[in-house]
Amino acid sequence: MQIRLASELQPDSIVDGEGIRTVIWTQGCSHNCPGCHNPGTHDFNGGFLVSVDDIKKELSLLEAQSGITFSGGDPLFQVEACTEIAKYAQSIGLNVWCYTGFTYEDLLKTDKNKEFLKYVDVLVDGKFILSERSLNLDFRGSRNQRIIDVQKSLEKGETVLVSKYVGERTVNVNVPRYEHVYI
Ligand code: SF4
Repeated sequence: MQIRLASELQPDSIVDGEGIRTVIWTQGCSHNCPGCHNPGTHDFNGGFLVSVDDIKKELSLLEAQSGITFSGGDPLFQVEACTEIAKYAQSIGLNVWCYTGFTYEDLLKTDKNKEFLKYVDVLVDGKFILSERSLNLDFRGSRNQRIIDVQKSLEKGETVLVSKYVGERTVNVNVPRYEHVYI
């Protein structure tokens, strides 16, 4: 099986979920969110194909990473390949985060998406909405997006958010740190 990626695996992200993470940048997205930070990942024929086995080999060599993060693009457009990768990642002790423009509730409507969710620890769901953008959110760009504890949600049959990431940080990162110099 192959997966279309936008770039090589990024082994050292600290902004795409908790800890040090390897990001799998998938290619292809049709959500067309105005203000998308990554429009080069939209074309379903862009990027390049790589075998899932090669990705597994790369993951097997990781030493310090907490987990993997699927981003893009929208990984759910290649859900079968992502399922195989997520399953493998968990089998070697890596946790799995996934960003998607779909909502969690949308994903539950399809068997293949539900199968993928079995191997996802945290889902960051929903389109990026420019008018809801905030720089004071952890691991997400706009207020509508949710950081969901997938396994608790599946167990309870309702959407359970990761409580520590609900709401916004109070520090306004837009205020320059040296502002007092000019007062
Ligand atoms: S879902 Fe993500 S990659 Fe796709 S258009 Fe929206 S912000 Fe961009």
